[in-house]
Amino acid sequence: MSGRFRTPIEGGCLCGQVRYRISSVTSAFWCHCTMCRRASGASAVPWASVPRGAFHMVRGMLRQFESSPGVRRGFCGACGSPILFDMAQESEVDITIGTLDQPDALSPTHHIWTGSQLNMSHGLGSALPHHPAECGAKLP
Ligand SMILES: [Zn+2]
Ligand SMILES: [Zn+2]
Repeated sequence: MSGRFRTPIEGGCLCGQVRYRISSVTSAFWCHCTMCRRASGASAVPWASVPRGAFHMVRGMLRQFESSPGVRRGFCGACGSPILFDMAQESEVDITIGTLDQPDALSPTHHIWTGSQLNMSHGLGSALPHHPAECGAKLP
């Protein structure tokens, strides 16, 4: 498995009403923050950072929830699958690796916000570097 891929890959929500395509990825990481936990219902969330211009909606629309000022989380309004994390001032958006059709096309390279990591997640990708808060690491 490589952290990179050359052809566009697609993803979508559980019910199929929302479909998207990404054509480039700059980083992939596990997030352990409390907000991702609430938004997903999972103990940690694998995200991929994608240049804004490399994220394309293929079908349907995302509903948006502003989880912090200037931060919108996009999800399927029908089935609730979390798809997108969008900070207005950033040149990249993040997509949930778990909603890709082939999630193993990407492998997270590090963890962020491990200051909030749950005990149950300690075995998760434990060989990867851990960062207690943000980290700007990019894919090789
Ligand atoms: Zn859906
Ligand atoms: Zn998070």
